[in-house]
Amino acid sequence: MGVNDVVKNITWLGHDGFLIKGDGKAIVIDPFQVKESEPADIILVTHEHYDHCSPEDIKKFQKESTVIVTEANSAAKLSGDVRVVKPGDKLTVSGIPIEAVPSYNTNKNFHPKQNAWLGFIVTVEGVRIYHAGDTDLIPEMNSFHVDIALLPVSGTYVMTAEEAAEAAKMIKPKLVIPMHYDAIVGSADDARRFCNALEGTCETVMLS
Ligand code: ZN
Ligand code: ZN
Repeated sequence: MGVNDVVKNITWLGHDGFLIKGDGKAIVIDPFQVKESEPADIILVTHEHYDHCSPEDIKKFQKESTVIVTEANSAAKLSGDVRVVKPGDKLTVSGIPIEAVPSYNTNKNFHPKQNAWLGFIVTVEGVRIYHAGDTDLIPEMNSFHVDIALLPVSGTYVMTAEEAAEAAKMIKPKLVIPMHYDAIVGSADDARRFCNALEGTCETVMLS
């Protein structure tokens, strides 16, 4: 399967929440204020902020065998099969390769690097999908080699639309999807500015 097939199996749950299906598995990332849910095999939680680590939303996707992969602060708020990872860690869960990558602020203090909060790269159907978490443009992005990038665009706590476009140019994915808008901060205008700034650079998809 190629990028354009895999992207059809990515559902935006709102804000930074996504449901990704592939290789016979359902993977959920940062569910928050979700309207609908289904049992997930893997739940990835980027960091402990309430709009990313929402125990009540996570429970909606959690079944007996669900594996949660997250950092230590979030793990303290969750129960079940919870695996704590640090940036740089790699593991395989239910046959799905998962890499934990750094995610932090460089020009604000909401997400300090030393907290060791997370972004994730998951490989589904041979396609590498990067969920950035709450981050600014960081030099590590140079080395991610991903096919699809989910990037925050709201500003305030994360990159602005313009900064996120610069990040996309550094990451060089085949396709980008804007996130982190329409809930706490940011609007569809930010997402559109981000997409417009990348015209001619890479494919952009705004999910709804
Ligand atoms: Zn945050
Ligand atoms: Zn956030």
